[in-house]
Amino acid sequence: MENKLKPLYDAENFRMKGHALIDLIADYLQANYDKEIRVNHYSDPDALMEKWNTFLDSKPDFQLFYSKILEDSIHLHHPHYMGHQVSVPSPLSAFGGLVSDLLNNGMAVYEMGAVANVLERKVIELINEAIGYDENSAGFLTSGGTLANLTALLTARRNITKEDIWNEGYQGKKYAVMVCDQAHYCIERAVRIMGLGTDGLIQVPVNDQFQMETSMLEDLYADAQKKGIQIFAIVGSACSTSTGAYDSLEEIGSFARKYNLWFHVDGAHGGAAVFSDKYKYLVKGIAQADSVVIDCHKMMMTPTLATAVVYKRIKDSFSTFQQEAEYLYTKKEDLNWYDTGKRTFECTKLMMGVKVMTLYNEGGPEVFSAYVDHCYNRARNFAELIQKREFFELAVVPEANILCFRIIKPELDIQGNNELNSFIRNSILHEGDFYIVKTTLRGIIYLRTTIMNPFTKASDFENLLQKVEQMAEHVNIDL
Ligand SMILES: *Cc1c(COP(=O)(O)O)cnc(C)c1O
Repeated sequence: MENKLKPLYDAENFRMKGHALIDLIADYLQANYDKEIRVNHYSDPDALMEKWNTFLDSKPDFQLFYSKILEDSIHLHHPHYMGHQVSVPSPLSAFGGLVSDLLNNGMAVYEMGAVANVLERKVIELINEAIGYDENSAGFLTSGGTLANLTALLTARRNITKEDIWNEGYQGKKYAVMVCDQAHYCIERAVRIMGLGTDGLIQVPVNDQFQMETSMLEDLYADAQKKGIQIFAIVGSACSTSTGAYDSLEEIGSFARKYNLWFHVDGAHGGAAVFSDKYKYLVKGIAQADSVVIDCHKMMMTPTLATAVVYKRIKDSFSTFQQEAEYLYTKKEDLNWYDTGKRTFECTKLMMGVKVMTLYNEGGPEVFSAYVDHCYNRARNFAELIQKREFFELAVVPEANILCFRIIKPELDIQGNNELNSFIRNSILHEGDFYIVKTTLRGIIYLRTTIMNPFTKASDFENLLQKVEQMAEHVNIDL
């Protein structure tokens, strides 16, 4: 082999660098757990670009290259990470990434990913059993909740509308999807990608708990009918992204049955509650759904990306993209489980099931319930701490592990308090001791946290609240 290529493929070189890298990562993890480093070192994008240009010009060796990557990244394994809702992956599941990246089995057809397809089926069976689906159900893994929701809505359109839109396009009739106005923006994006336009999304207002106000459904449905719009699907959020509120899946399911709508559950974040005996009451009725989406890379400790799209009826899972890439499949009516490319948006796909099954193999299915229980319990503890403090306010008592709160200065109006909380979030970002985000609910800005890190405990919550309090005192001078 050419000298230039040899070290890139050399097994001994891989072994040597790999051992050193694992040591580096293990030390990094411990430093995070022990809070020896800050959770984040925020740099302006241009400054970081410049710094890295210089660094790369210095031709760092393998070890230095990776240590710099670790250093300049946001540290999800730090107990003060309470920001966006991506999983804090079990380091063991990251081995699934290493091995599958190396094998690079593309998965679209069985022979290009035999084990990967077997493991994927195991993950789907695990999830379907937890949902309460019977053996007639099916599903697959795909690249993220956004793509997963689009896929399920395409299936819905295919199965509910009388027209063959996949082949013939729209013939002038208008269609729509119902979803609560707190749903993740990817539902709206899916609707627009499907060519349904602004009228294609019927947003149902929420109640004071930020759950879909199901008493509005009949009126909104009648209204759409009057306008000649056919609603073909309704989406329940389990839970919604900004507040972690669970829609009533039972009520949405009954409504869907009454009007023969496709009932889809966006459980990207909180669908994993199906694993928890303690919290599965939150998803009561989920087994009625025609399709469900669950991100393993949110509440199942799995690295990004791995999302399950599951269907109550196996035949539906094959209908989405029928007539596509027929050249790969000799008999198109052959509904086998092992050529997942027939059913997924992707052609080449990561071996996602490996990461999930690593966890299952280490600790059994109980690890998934243990994680949900732990994070949801901790969020409830955090909420109690907030409620005990004067001048702090919860947006809503958390159902999941997403928690929005704000500090209030009585002398300030809504706008002033919004500025105050914005200022605090921004200061926290730049300081780097904690990582939290913010959200706006009904015109009010809240600090938003998601308790994803199993190491985050009561004293971390107390320290965060103290910091918010101190910053609020400090900003008094500036406002
Ligand atoms: C995160 C999330 C999504 C989007 O999933 P990605 O995997 O980030 O594409 C969709 N819906 C809900 C409710 C989510 O929480």
